[in-house]
Amino acid sequence: MRLALTAITDELRRLKASGVSRVTVSEEGLAALRNTIANCPVAAAGLPPLKPSPASPAPPASAAVPPPPTVVLAKGDKKTQWEALRQAVLDDPFCKSKLRPGKRVVLGVGSLDAAIMFVGEAPGAEEEIQGEPFVGPAGQLLNRMISGMALSRADVYIGNIMNWRPDLPAGADGVQTGNRPPTPAEMAHCLPYLRAQIEIVNPKLLVALGSTAAKGLLGHGSFGALGEVRGRWHDFGGRPLMVTYHPSYILRNPINRTKRLIWEDLLKVMERANLTITEKQRGFFLGT
Ligand code: URA
Repeated sequence: MRLALTAITDELRRLKASGVSRVTVSEEGLAALRNTIANCPVAAAGLPPLKPSPASPAPPASAAVPPPPTVVLAKGDKKTQWEALRQAVLDDPFCKSKLRPGKRVVLGVGSLDAAIMFVGEAPGAEEEIQGEPFVGPAGQLLNRMISGMALSRADVYIGNIMNWRPDLPAGADGVQTGNRPPTPAEMAHCLPYLRAQIEIVNPKLLVALGSTAAKGLLGHGSFGALGEVRGRWHDFGGRPLMVTYHPSYILRNPINRTKRLIWEDLLKVMERANLTITEKQRGFFLGT
């Protein structure tokens, strides 16, 4: 129902943008609309079905994942604690063993005083080269989402569930092309590092980007489809947690409906973080 309404709103906005200022709906039209909403919201609205994530390749049968590390924060200010944590992640023998030559472990980035912390899945090709989260195409879109909130990357903190790129067999050239989601054991190994970052930054709220991040934070069996938890507030260690789509989902489904849904989630985040929301922002659609 909500999707159908969003689709109708999309269409009305499109008409408005193309100069239409008045729409007349006949009784038959209204009946059809009621029918559409009652029966098949997405297909009846004439929208293509959303593209799901590409089928996930299986992880290589590699060595068992060691139990999660115990992280004790260093004494000192936030910067000191963060630097010590970074060193601990860089020194983690399992993290190190997962890196291909020249590739880097990735810790979060941003303000250590941020009110909002975004949590993604895992580094991809660009991220493991630069050693920074969200610097590839999904990162470009995340940057636009953040600037739509009238913030910059330096105002928020951006982390990942994983500190390394989940490995797949490389091609003959030694280069890994695809990505795979991390296994629950891999995520469990990295979670203490994410918890430590949350403790250091102490954000007002968290935003999980996509299903893997949401599962990492809420627990693996906590939901089936992302739609069950998306757009709602949850709790992570006493902190509000909003679940929304991963930016790469919009890259695969660049239609107004998905852009608007993610933006609605971000409006809720802005409200909860007591950020000023302009009228323009309320009516905004994320561009790709
Ligand atoms: N996707 C993620 O979830 N994290 C990144 O750092 C990059 C892409």
